[in-house]
Amino acid sequence: MKLIFNKGAQGRRGVKLPELDVPNKAEIPEKLFRKSPARLPEVSEMEVIRHFIELSENNFGVDTNFYPLGSCTMKYNPKIGEEVARYNGFTALHPLLPQLRPGGLLTQGALQVIYETEQFLSELTGMAEFTMQPLAGAHGELTGIMIIAAYHKAKGNKKTKVIIPDSAHGTNPASAAIAGYRVESVPSNEHGVMGYREFMKVLDNEVAAVMLTCPNTLGLFNPEIKKIADKVHEVDALMYCDGANLNAILGKSKPASIGFDLMHVNLHKTFGTPHGGGGPGAGPVGVKEKLKKFLPISLVIKRRDGTYALEYERPSSIGYVAPFYGNFGVILKAYTYILSLGGEGLKKVSENAVLNANYIKEKLKTHYHLPYDRTCMHECVFSASRQMKKGVHAIDIAKRLIDYGFHPPTVYFPLIVEEAMMIEPTETESKETIDAFIEAMIKIAEEAEKNPDLLHSAPVSTPISRLDETAAAREMDLRV
Ligand SMILES: *Cc1c(COP(=O)(O)O)cnc(C)c1O
Repeated sequence: MKLIFNKGAQGRRGVKLPELDVPNKAEIPEKLFRKSPARLPEVSEMEVIRHFIELSENNFGVDTNFYPLGSCTMKYNPKIGEEVARYNGFTALHPLLPQLRPGGLLTQGALQVIYETEQFLSELTGMAEFTMQPLAGAHGELTGIMIIAAYHKAKGNKKTKVIIPDSAHGTNPASAAIAGYRVESVPSNEHGVMGYREFMKVLDNEVAAVMLTCPNTLGLFNPEIKKIADKVHEVDALMYCDGANLNAILGKSKPASIGFDLMHVNLHKTFGTPHGGGGPGAGPVGVKEKLKKFLPISLVIKRRDGTYALEYERPSSIGYVAPFYGNFGVILKAYTYILSLGGEGLKKVSENAVLNANYIKEKLKTHYHLPYDRTCMHECVFSASRQMKKGVHAIDIAKRLIDYGFHPPTVYFPLIVEEAMMIEPTETESKETIDAFIEAMIKIAEEAEKNPDLLHSAPVSTPISRLDETAAAREMDLRV
């Protein structure tokens, strides 16, 4: 199918787009033409403004309130990222613009952004090369597993399973299963991590890879990871790192040095970009030297003359995983984020993320049960088990936080903690905000003791009271 452009369309602010073919009207099938004009609302500017302001006020986001949603990294996204993403030179681009033919210079800046972001990620993680194509973390995992499968196929290895600890994000086992592997789940030990001993019980020659989140979803680092990696490599299996949230280790440690062979990074969590509700995202996948040849095509390369080009010549590539070059806008915001912070700034990101999470952990551990009392990384996980004795569940505490003006933390995940409340303050919050959150959590713990019924009916300050969760799931109506 041909795409329709205005002939010689003039980009905004004078960016001249090249002339492209316009299909003859006669080529468009008769049945696709409208019979009557579209029924578009006729409204004044004032009505439009009121409509969108009202919608924006119904929103609860990082730009309005504290949003400590563990594992999702809902942090402040610097507005400079939005500004750069709106530069005409980027917004007026189209992926079908010629790369190498005359006029190809139009896309050089965009290719440079992709190339340099890829280089930054390689530097930060120690990987040899990244594909910038995957459109989300889960998509990155699937891409990674496809690379793992291609590696074993090329070597003639017979591999059937992937080892994943029970604290993993649900997308890990889902990605492994979609790629055709059997998932072997390993229970976490008393320190909240996959222990070497438990791991060795399931390791054998059938293992294709081990998928580990690092630090894991309890916000804990695995001190035995190097020993585990060495054993994995002895059976020619690969170490996959789920690097969705790198806030804890940026500029501090490199997954490649720890023994990981490949990984994905969520640009929309670690490197800015507002996200939620399914997008937009970007989950670039980085690999060590031995896996480079399997990366998806196309890749952006820098030629000797300093220009950038798309490379398609990788005979062992797993092929395309996304149209064009990934979610370019997200890559651009990550690029802006990295450049605006610089190396030292990125180190501060992890220092502050870890400090803030440990501060909350220490302040709240006398009020809520802390199942794994260790120094945490970027997030900490409490259990509402103490409040349960009064009939108060994690969901009640979460709903009550709304009354105090806070977004609830992630609840009931990871699955291995009963009544889990997973708190990730991120690096971008001030001590005052974090203290106010801690105070609200302490008040709620007191309310759970004295007035548990209040918590069952929370939130009480919102226009709509507690939703019937079952009805909301079974008879979903998004129009109200
Ligand atoms: C968010 C997340 C994912 C999945 O990323 P999506 O972009 O939502 O697909 C995978 N693993 C971990 C640990 C995550 O936090």
